[in-house]
Amino acid sequence: MSDNFPEPSPLDQHDFLLLLYFGAEGDDVARAVRRAYQDLSRTVYRVGSCPEARPLAQEVLRSELAALPSRDDVTNQGTFDAWHEDVCRKLSAAFATAGYTSFRVGQAQKWLNMALKYIYVFGETRLPGYARFYRFCHVPIDNIVLNSPRFYGLAHFAEAWSRITEYSKYLAFQVAVRERFPHSPPLAVEFRVWQQEYASNNPGHLQLTQRRPSPESLPKPSEDLIRDFIRQERVGNSIRLSVCQILWKGSHEPRSHWRQVMTLPAETDAAAMIKAIDAILHDGRYFGVCKECNERLPAGWMLSNRLCHRCASTNHGVVF
Ligand SMILES: [Zn+2]
Repeated sequence: MSDNFPEPSPLDQHDFLLLLYFGAEGDDVARAVRRAYQDLSRTVYRVGSCPEARPLAQEVLRSELAALPSRDDVTNQGTFDAWHEDVCRKLSAAFATAGYTSFRVGQAQKWLNMALKYIYVFGETRLPGYARFYRFCHVPIDNIVLNSPRFYGLAHFAEAWSRITEYSKYLAFQVAVRERFPHSPPLAVEFRVWQQEYASNNPGHLQLTQRRPSPESLPKPSEDLIRDFIRQERVGNSIRLSVCQILWKGSHEPRSHWRQVMTLPAETDAAAMIKAIDAILHDGRYFGVCKECNERLPAGWMLSNRLCHRCASTNHGVVF
């Protein structure tokens, strides 16, 4: 007598991938927390000399996250941020209790933010109670995020992400992300941007980007580029157009700065406005087109008038 094996449903298929990625041990929150630790483990130098540290901190994070759905006091961005800072502090304290005193905000944020990201990968059907916090969640900071053009100019860290020590500086980045993308939850932005960046750094994509673009495939300036780097302001009887310029302070610290480049009469119609913006986008002082990835980018991200920073580093090994 044979058993009946139904076709796997999408939920079954999802379970299968979750099993491969998160393992089978523990409840789903514990699985998310354990997997998230792998995303920072290589930065936790010599934690092996304090064997109690990780299990202790892991239990702190698991219980904080498991209790989150029943926290009636966490209802808005401000109370979520306060909860977040408190959990980061508790994680550092747990490590310190076990004798490891150099667990930083940079590491705590990665652990907590990745665990939350994974909780949303499980989804509200499997792991309910977290949906109301989604829009308050923070972007997990790592090198992929910090190197992404979409986040350029927002981070002002003097140290590597894992060494970030001051929570206020960490939070300033999160606030800047919310301001740059006011219409999308930060985690939704990160979900897309991280994958784009990850894909663009893998060898399969390099072959594509190294192919010379044909003239008809020259890039159309994206809406995002215009939205993020060109500002229109009504001032009295005129409209001012400004461009966000990226200036480098040292080789790793981009700063952005708005420069006024054009003034038009207030009655300028939409067609004339599009023409003016187009002229700015094609002005080599402000934007350039990389001949390798075929992207139009702010001049501050171009190494020369043909090559962007990212292609210089991924295709030519240029170290910044
Ligand atoms: Zn490029």
